[in-house]
Amino acid sequence: MYRTVTCGELRIADVNKEVVLAGWVQRIRKMGGMTFIDLRDRYGITQLAFEQGNESQTALFEQAGKLGREYVVQATGVVKERYSKNDQLSTGDIEIEVTKLVVLNPAIVPPFTIEDETDGGDDIRMKYRYLDLRRSVVRRNLELRHRMAFEVRSYLDKHGFLEVETPVLVNSTPEGARDFVVPSRMNPGQFYALPQSPQTLKQLLMVSGFDRYFQIVKCFRDEDLRADRQPEFTQIDCEMSFVEQEDILQMFEGMTRHLFKTIKGINLPALPRMSWHDAMKYYGSDKPDTRFDMRFVELMDVLKGYGFSVFDNAAYIGGICAKGAAVYTRKQIDQLTDFVRRPQIGAKGLVYARIEADGTVRSSVDKFYTQDQLAALKNAMSAEPGDLILILSGDDADKTRKQLSELRLEMGSQLGLRDKNKYSCLWVVDFPMYEWSDEEQRLMAMHHPFTSPKPEDIPLLDTDPAKVRANAYDMVINGVEVGGGSIRIHDAKLQEKVFEILGFTPEQAQTKFGFLMNAFKYGAPPHGGLAYGLDRFVSLFAGLDSIRDCIAFPKNNQGRDVMLGAPGVIDQVQLDELQLKVEKKN
Ligand code: ASP
Repeated sequence: MYRTVTCGELRIADVNKEVVLAGWVQRIRKMGGMTFIDLRDRYGITQLAFEQGNESQTALFEQAGKLGREYVVQATGVVKERYSKNDQLSTGDIEIEVTKLVVLNPAIVPPFTIEDETDGGDDIRMKYRYLDLRRSVVRRNLELRHRMAFEVRSYLDKHGFLEVETPVLVNSTPEGARDFVVPSRMNPGQFYALPQSPQTLKQLLMVSGFDRYFQIVKCFRDEDLRADRQPEFTQIDCEMSFVEQEDILQMFEGMTRHLFKTIKGINLPALPRMSWHDAMKYYGSDKPDTRFDMRFVELMDVLKGYGFSVFDNAAYIGGICAKGAAVYTRKQIDQLTDFVRRPQIGAKGLVYARIEADGTVRSSVDKFYTQDQLAALKNAMSAEPGDLILILSGDDADKTRKQLSELRLEMGSQLGLRDKNKYSCLWVVDFPMYEWSDEEQRLMAMHHPFTSPKPEDIPLLDTDPAKVRANAYDMVINGVEVGGGSIRIHDAKLQEKVFEILGFTPEQAQTKFGFLMNAFKYGAPPHGGLAYGLDRFVSLFAGLDSIRDCIAFPKNNQGRDVMLGAPGVIDQVQLDELQLKVEKKN
């Protein structure tokens, strides 16, 4: 037997037991006649003690002194009460008086310290990810991920969902993101695509009568990467038949509540619902961070027409009221101005107004407004003495709202209103069916082309498609879109029409989606569903800014796995088999 106990389980009640442990040498402390070793495994750390005593002890003592960090060792010994206890460790009351030590495998010196606070930078940690994963801070994220996936399965199983696997080698689908493709050796010149989501397949399972499906599934999107994006990511993908939007919201609000309860011990209140329209109007974002208020107030009526040309020419003027921020210095406000002017945000400038202790308003545009007019501003913003009003304007209302949204989030962070241990969840509902794409000069599906319009908006498909609202919904937690879905179209004719509005000719629609539209002709039940981003959900629960550390082997910003060296070149033989030609780069 390699071990009788793990490194995390011995307590004071185990004193005098003879035990065998195995693990990695985390730390060696030599203190004169004593040597202490922290032995680590997945479960914890146990202290091994070696004393330079009589002859047999001395041999062990010397053996211990020769161990190096990360050696894999087996230690046999007796559990003793520690002289000086460590209340930071669950095993901190005891130590092992070692009677036998076996080196199972030596180790070369790791390139960074395997500690919670490591000296390893991102790149080196990723290159040696297997060592990084020895660190308990990273390992705990994967343990959390496991627990969450487990609780998801448990909840969905209890509610009659079946987990069905769908293929990874599928077809390229237009709309959505760019596909990853895989050449087919047996069909030269032809390619599979990796699924961006199992969307159409889960809908076909509904046509098959599966009624309640889920799958914890890898999805692939060849997009530019950000902190919350990876080229491959995991979805909790779900679909239900004979449901309306309300049924889905209830079922998955239940799942979210189950996760919060079982994992975090939090009883989530009923999730509020906000229309997409209100989310954009009050937060400038379809995923508002509602941990704090600071809603937008439109100021067109209040500030336009008084001779300040920037406002007079604006299509939108909006402000936020930062409570207690009148103490901001000139320098801090200049920094905020620089912040909104950064190219990623793109505002031209920032107007501010401080509410002084006596209630007077001091603004950066004082010369254009009387104190009465500024008092009207204060009223409109419900501002009080000590508050700071920040105002953006622009000739494109939607763009300006997005800029104001960034400023709002920044102020929320600066004022400490975005506490990672606080959770604010909501549903955003009533998304528009379409959004205009400047790039493509056409309407694009906001969610995806299988989303059903709201029945009352169907007539608008012929007259004003841009106004059609969809039966689509997102779950947002702390400003992160953790899930989203929709009621689907189950009528072949309506699906044809939606494809037509998206600019597909009937032939194109038939080639790409004929399989789905034909399936609908064989009796498709009304159905709908949604998918959660598991990585994002876990990172929220773990309090991480990036999804990377809740993925065992993530890719970097260039989409590379620096440990595996992927992507890499392939042999000429493989290329020939695939009938692919690759220009050699020098
Ligand atoms: N397939 C969708 C997505 O990946 C989610 C859904 O509509 O179920 O966003």
